[in-house]
Amino acid sequence: MPSHDVLIIGAGLAGQRAALAAAGAGASVAVVSKVHPVRSHSVAAAGGINAALNPGDSWESHAFDTVKGSDYLGDQDAIEIMCRQAPEEVLYLEHIGVTFHRSEDGHLGTRAFGGASQARTFYVADITGQAILHVLYEQLMKHSGQVDRYEEWFTTDLLRDDDGHCVGAICRNLRDGRLEVFDAKAVILASGGAGQVFKPTTNGLIVTGDGIAQAYRVGAKLMDMEMVQYHPTTLAENGFLITEGARGEGAWLLNARGERFMEKYAPNKLDLASRDVVSRAAQTEINEGRGFPDGTVALDITKVPRKRTLEALREIVNIGRDFAGVDITREPIHIRPGMHYIMGGVKTDSFGETTVPGLYAAGEVACVSVHGGNRLGANSLLDTLVFGRRAGEHAAGRAKRMPMPSTPSSRVADAEETIAAIIRRPAGGRRIAAIKDELGTTMNRYCAVFRDAEGLAEAQEIVRRLKEEAPKAGIDDRGTVFNQDVIAAIELGYMLDVAETILVAAQERKESRGAQFRTDFPERNDEEWLKHIDVSLGDGGVPTVDYSPVTITRWEPQERTY
Ligand SMILES: Cc1cc2nc3c(=O)[nH]c(=O)nc-3n(C[C@H](O)[C@H](O)[C@H](O)COP(=O)(O)OP(=O)(O)OC[C@H]3O[C@@H](n4cnc5c(N)ncnc54)[C@H](O)[C@@H]3O)c2cc1C
Repeated sequence: MPSHDVLIIGAGLAGQRAALAAAGAGASVAVVSKVHPVRSHSVAAAGGINAALNPGDSWESHAFDTVKGSDYLGDQDAIEIMCRQAPEEVLYLEHIGVTFHRSEDGHLGTRAFGGASQARTFYVADITGQAILHVLYEQLMKHSGQVDRYEEWFTTDLLRDDDGHCVGAICRNLRDGRLEVFDAKAVILASGGAGQVFKPTTNGLIVTGDGIAQAYRVGAKLMDMEMVQYHPTTLAENGFLITEGARGEGAWLLNARGERFMEKYAPNKLDLASRDVVSRAAQTEINEGRGFPDGTVALDITKVPRKRTLEALREIVNIGRDFAGVDITREPIHIRPGMHYIMGGVKTDSFGETTVPGLYAAGEVACVSVHGGNRLGANSLLDTLVFGRRAGEHAAGRAKRMPMPSTPSSRVADAEETIAAIIRRPAGGRRIAAIKDELGTTMNRYCAVFRDAEGLAEAQEIVRRLKEEAPKAGIDDRGTVFNQDVIAAIELGYMLDVAETILVAAQERKESRGAQFRTDFPERNDEEWLKHIDVSLGDGGVPTVDYSPVTITRWEPQERTY
């Protein structure tokens, strides 16, 4: 039975950074990932990572932009930590081999990004996530004496002892279907976001909210779950992302009349206002009939010199050509707001500790909360790395004080029975894919850029019904080797839990702030709603809501204009 000081679930940027930090602090580490680590969704990150490193920039300016971007819901103590530590983190990456773009004079070069008062986004063309992920993986190899990698292992459950401490997890080896108890003195969830709860989404098929649901099921609090980011520029057909880096390089948003509509909504920052503002503007143009018949507006990347596009935005040149049949260097491409990121997640302090002792969370699965109501572009990679490192170090410190737990292997029996019950399901019932499809389109219809009480209640009803249908959905593969049907059935359960918590929180927040725009409560209401909504699993499996205060250190809420 594997036993380690620190068990990390997830091997994207947060998980790998946590692993390096925990190993550096002397812990023995296990990293479990349901896909090969370099296929983790961080690989898709395109535009870059923020840090106030340039002369004339300051962490205070970065922090203020982040607080304002969050619509004052972000916790300012955590934002201060992230922005202060950003330069060190980017330099660490550069020193271990990330080939960040350099300007003509040989210095690290930056591009502009949304909601930022300065160009402070460091990047590797438009493959920044891939570049960082591969370099971190190389570093993990160097620590192979201390870090055991469990690649293509799927965590099904978190384990708690009689005192309520998290003491490990149950994981399934996808290659042969074997389940094992992993004992650990501390567990770090780094299992990413929940994009697949929505359809379409910019997130890959593996981003199914596993960690959020697993933590919720063992009693951890979730926070800010209503805050779901719609990115302004995604392809209508499939949700693929056209990075904000395009607008950072100078691309314009245009409606079907050829008007640069952001002049109306954000006269100062225009196309580089924060994402919630730009998405609402684009959606308003579409809803009010100034979009194209396919329900889109246009992004005109021809404003960027062609040579620069081919050099700095080459992935979206490929995406435009391969998935929309458009040469973005020569003509505008049709885009619309699409689900991209979840600001909410497992509630943590600034060391990644959740409300369950021994359980940490970092990266998109977590809510520190540095993004509050709206994440600034290029702040997520930073969040994964800064708080991944802090969680890794803190968990290693905890491990030094704890004896190694020993969960009886009989605990595997429950998990085995859950899987056996999935495999025994009679053929028939609705397909898992059909239920997932209905879930995604429902969330995208009722819980998107604009929301109201009626739509949210309708969505909740549908999710309740889908929760009843899901356990009866039949599967085809009854084998043990790479059985993706079984995994899909388990993931569907996670996604339904996550959807339910999002809807509960979105109904609870009766105001408009950040990504949550309620057409029935169109104003921000600091008096009543300058607070976090926490959701936890109540009696009878029903989500219960309570509140926690927003930490304000130095930036009092102001009217937010761009
Ligand atoms: C298209 C796109 C572009 C983006 N561009 C940027 C950008 O330019 N800048 C920026 O700051 N942010 C960007 N983001 C956001 C950012 O990429 C993500 O928020 C971030 O990479 C998430 O990292 P993570 O480590 O938390 O999770 P992930 O990288 O998603 O890793 C999750 C890990 O958990 C594992 N896992 C999940 N469930 C299980 C389970 N049950 N058992 C075992 N393992 C499991 C997975 O295998 C994976 O290893 C972008 C996002 C997208 C979708």
